[in-house]
Amino acid sequence: MTRDRAGRFFLAVLVEEAIAPLPDAFLPGGREPRAMGLDLGLAALVTTDGGEKLPHPRLLRKYEKKLSSLQRSPHRKRKASKNPGKARERIARLYAAISDVRRDLLDQFTTRLVRENQVLVVEDLPIAHLMRRAKDTGRRRKAALSRSLADAAWGELVRLLRYKCAWYGRTLVIVDRFFPSTRRCSACHTKGPRLDVSVREWSCAACGAAHDRDTNAAVNLRDEGMRLYRAVVAAMPPGRLPPNVIRAMEWAKIVPAA
Ligand SMILES: [Zn+2]
Repeated sequence: MTRDRAGRFFLAVLVEEAIAPLPDAFLPGGREPRAMGLDLGLAALVTTDGGEKLPHPRLLRKYEKKLSSLQRSPHRKRKASKNPGKARERIARLYAAISDVRRDLLDQFTTRLVRENQVLVVEDLPIAHLMRRAKDTGRRRKAALSRSLADAAWGELVRLLRYKCAWYGRTLVIVDRFFPSTRRCSACHTKGPRLDVSVREWSCAACGAAHDRDTNAAVNLRDEGMRLYRAVVAAMPPGRLPPNVIRAMEWAKIVPAA
């Protein structure tokens, strides 16, 4: 039995279970693997290349609001409070509740994705998130909090996809963080100007294609991921199964950047 930071007790039960790989998920009539690109964001938790959006759960929003107000209170009431430990424990409890809700949601979602697809493609943690977070202070604390929770969701998504791909004989492709997934037009591959975070929809100046920001990014990630996947499979000795994880930066010698 273990106890976490939120003061909850856990009983661990180990179950030995043989996990068989799922049958391959190929497109009808060929050996072309079914692939899906996933964009992780603040507007929707996850957007697929088909335009499906996994929203941030309403329960999570409620918890985040509460967490945001709790995180302010220990500082503001430092002198008055006789029991700062209580506030810390309530914050820890909220963090635990948020991560439980998020994990359940992502667990179901990733199981479905891994069943239906042979190759899943995500982006390496965008460095812009980390850089922006360092500058956040004061009244921007709330925005910083929602970004840090989104980063936590990204970490959870990748963790789940990693082990499920290994269990079921699938491949997770992690595209380089410098790949311009948002700015590139998925129809003609022209790289447009940088888009402000408030821009949800845009049209390509070169070909006129209309894009949903996140769906376009997910399509670009899928295409780039498949380019990597094909190059890595072609470079492998015949008869070998594709790796369960392909991280772009580890294959830079074989697959030059787009
Ligand atoms: Zn275009």
